Amino acid sequence: MPEFNALLQGYHRFKEYSYPRQKARYDELSGGQNPPVMVISCCDSRVDPATIFDTGPGQMFALRNVANLVPPYDDAGGIHGASAAIEFGVTGLNVSHIIVMGHGQCGGINAALKGEDLGVTGHSFVDKWMGIISEAKAQVLARSPADPQRELEWEAIKTSLANLRTFPFIAEREKRGELKLHGTWYAIGEAKLFTLDEGSGEFSAVE
Ligand SMILES: [Zn+2]
Repeated sequence: MPEFNALLQGYHRFKEYSYPRQKARYDELSGGQNPPVMVISCCDSRVDPATIFDTGPGQMFALRNVANLVPPYDDAGGIHGASAAIEFGVTGLNVSHIIVMGHGQCGGINAALKGEDLGVTGHSFVDKWMGIISEAKAQVLARSPADPQRELEWEAIKTSLANLRTFPFIAEREKRGELKLHGTWYAIGEAKLFTLDEGSGEFSAVE
């Protein structure tokens, strides 16, 4: 099990070097967490938000799922992992910011675009999950853009922001100025972060 052993070696490095350097912070955090920011990002192994934003322990409450999607508010039943994390981040931890971070070369977005599942035959959880952006996908394809993958990655971020606002506790806090929502997108090959201007709908690189 070389892969698992590599992780255990990493744990030893953490205990020997990284943990002692941040011991005071960890001691403080052992009493509880109070992160000011929640980030919603993809499961993709290349886009770890703590690495990209260079954050330390306790700074960011993170939800990672396929293609960094937020489903619409739905209290009609079912088991909702993403919504549970959002509810806890907002009403339990009182975060002041929610950042949706999309990224380039997203496999989930690519599968949605091609109408293929990610290798699963029969029932696919991913297919149903990517249905969250079916409307965004139709709109993107109708425009016949030069780069439909990137267009849909960007549109999916806007859909997630719109869906966040369907949660009453988010809409209320945003209206009161207690919570700010942000859209960002990360280009893996260039290590470049883009932010969304919701007024214009445009993404631009962070200088
Ligand atoms: Zn992804």
